[in-house]
Order: sequence, then C-alpha cells, then structure tokens
Amino acid sequence: MGDLKETLWALGVCDEMAGALERERTQIPVSIEELERKAQVAKDVIAQERNTLEETEYTRRSKEGELQDCEAKRSKFQGQSAMVKTNVEYTALLNEVDGMTARISQLEEEILLSMETVDQVSARLKTVEIEQTKLEQDLLGQAQGLRERMEVVKQELAAKDTERAELLTHLSPDIVANYQRLRGARGQAMARIEAHICAACHRQVPPETVNRVLAGEMHTCPSCLRILLVDDS
Ligand SMILES: [Zn+2]
Repeated sequence: MGDLKETLWALGVCDEMAGALERERTQIPVSIEELERKAQVAKDVIAQERNTLEETEYTRRSKEGELQDCEAKRSKFQGQSAMVKTNVEYTALLNEVDGMTARISQLEEEILLSMETVDQVSARLKTVEIEQTKLEQDLLGQAQGLRERMEVVKQELAAKDTERAELLTHLSPDIVANYQRLRGARGQAMARIEAHICAACHRQVPPETVNRVLAGEMHTCPSCLRILLVDDS
C-alpha cells in the first residue's frame, strides 16, 4: 500500500503543479497585453511631445512670416510719404506707419518668447525621448521574457500531462474516480495527517482512522473527505 499512497501523493503534487502552470498560461497573455499597452503609451508620450515641438516651431515661423509682411508694408508706406499731397493724407500715412511699427515690435517680442518656448520644448523632448524610450524597451523586454516563459510553461504542462498519465496507470479506476471527485469538489484530493490532525482542514482525525491509514488502508478525513495520508517515516 506504500506504493498506492506514494502514487496518490505524487498525483496530487503533479495536479497542483499543473494547476499553477495552467493559471500562469492563462495569465501570461493578459500580462503581455498590459505590458505592450504601457509600451505604446510610452511611444505616444514621445509622439505627443514631438507634436508640441512642431506646433511651437510652426507658431514661431508664422510670426516670422507676419513680421516680414509688416516690415514690407511699412517700407511701402514710408515710400509713399514723398508722394502725398495733403496734410490729411500725410497724417493718415503716418498713422499706418506707426500702426505697423507697433505691430512689428509686438511681433518681435512674441518671436523671442516663441524661440524660448521652442528651446524649452526641444530640451524637454530630449529628456522625454530618453526616459520613455528606456521605459518602452524595458516593458517590451519584460513582454519578451514572458513569451519565453510561456514556452517553458507549455513544455512543463506537457511534461505534467505525461507524468499524470503514467501515475494513473498505477491506480485502479475507482480510486482515480474518488480522487477526481474530491479534487473537483475541494481543489485538492489528499491531505496529510500531522499529529492526528488533518493538515488540509485542521480537524481532528479519530485515532482508529489514523491507525488504519498507518496500516495502509485507504480512508478519508471525516471532516473534509480528502484521502488521508501519513508519513511512514
Ligand atoms: Zn480534513
């Protein structure tokens, strides 16, 4: 009967490990997806920062364009001053020139601010690129690690299947059926007796049952109905 107990125990251990591997196999794709989603977020952060830089550069360029237009218009007005005939016309022209001069100095200030913004954004982009690229690589590396782990898990699961099939050939169908029923109901079919206590449900096992199990008979825990095992040693 020592063999039976050993085989049952080995089956229990095998199923426990297979269960853990199965949970891992289910979890890994979820974790990979999460890591890849975070890696994409890191990429998006860089893209967003590049967009901001492009926008600030565009703003600076359009202000520079407007500045050139204003300077051209002002020159044109100044050129017309020799041709005006009346004071009214002259005053009107001076107003135009003054208006352009005011706009030009406003634009010059705005361009200086824009240039500062461009400098700030491009400095920030450099930091963001370094940080987020490192983060992205790190996350993708973790995802790759999980893909490799998945291969190992699949191999280990296949090995557990083989081991299980081997163990089942040593057990009679009724014992296997009993084991399956308990495993289905309680998650774990076997429990060790430790100092007259069932290690699974922590309830007392009657001394007579302990003795019978020690003698090699198969009995179940009166409380949780798991197959009881004792260490012969
Ligand atoms: Zn029990």
